[in-house]
Amino acid sequence: MNNDHYTIGIDAGGTKVAYGLFDFDGKLIDRFEHPSDPEADGPAFSDRMAETVEMLLEKNAISRQLLDGVGVCMPSYIMYDEGYIFLTSALPKVRDFYMRDYLRNKLHVPVLLDNDANAAALAEYRRGAGAGKDLKHMVYIAISTGIGSGIIINRDLYRGSYGFAGECGHMLITPDEGIECGCRNKGCFMSYAGGRYIPMHLKDRLHEGRRSILSGIDETVLSCRDILPACRENDPLAMEMLGQMAHYIAVCVYNIYELLNINTFVFGGGLTSFGDLLFDRVRGEFDRYNHIKLPVTFLTAQLKKDFGIIGASELVRGN
Ligand SMILES: [Zn+2]
Repeated sequence: MNNDHYTIGIDAGGTKVAYGLFDFDGKLIDRFEHPSDPEADGPAFSDRMAETVEMLLEKNAISRQLLDGVGVCMPSYIMYDEGYIFLTSALPKVRDFYMRDYLRNKLHVPVLLDNDANAAALAEYRRGAGAGKDLKHMVYIAISTGIGSGIIINRDLYRGSYGFAGECGHMLITPDEGIECGCRNKGCFMSYAGGRYIPMHLKDRLHEGRRSILSGIDETVLSCRDILPACRENDPLAMEMLGQMAHYIAVCVYNIYELLNINTFVFGGGLTSFGDLLFDRVRGEFDRYNHIKLPVTFLTAQLKKDFGIIGASELVRGN
């Protein structure tokens, strides 16, 4: 890369598509976003991204020759080597599609496509919580509506045979029992601790007649966010839900530690807003299971809302 070159990172999610234009040093110099079209299929969704890339280049008077590449991350099952999207949970029509080559043919620049948790892991590893620490291995865990992870082994993303490595949220803990998750199994970690599923557990308990300051709340809009203020008031049911989240996250993290023996975990995602209330419990429970007293570090993700575009651009920058 010459130092007058640029990269573009695209973070395409279920609600919006965010774009970042980065200079040679990785500094964000322009950004743009538009809502995601839930009706768009793979080609239509990609056309809009290609048009927006062209617009960003034109607006910043950057010629295509100076663009080193475009990185795209999506909440999808992606075969990285093939640039192929199997399915996208939040965008049901974006599936069964060779998105990477479609975009390459449109834009005539290198394009890389990866799962959003992988991109976030890369962003935190190089530019966030892991930056400057000379870590050889690291696991990033996103705890949000869902739970997923990105695994760094030997300073690079580990993607597995098909590209799906790190789907720790769908590891089974009580197979065939509990709430059915989007992965079509019952009893994965996400179905117990993901932000989409915690309100379902809470509603079940409310229907059993449990009393809580959340009892009168409109159940149609009940979300994980409602639990936090109730916890601060020491509401027993809210505390029980918090304990459930902490328990399943801790078991998940412990299992990953046993499998990979990676000693640095970085936690990101919307539910990190629960802060110490949640993570002190996760830590305590992890330590209770872990009988070999070697250092294991838990860190909080450092990059704020830009982690997706940073990670997407890092796919290109590190390549
Ligand atoms: Zn699942």
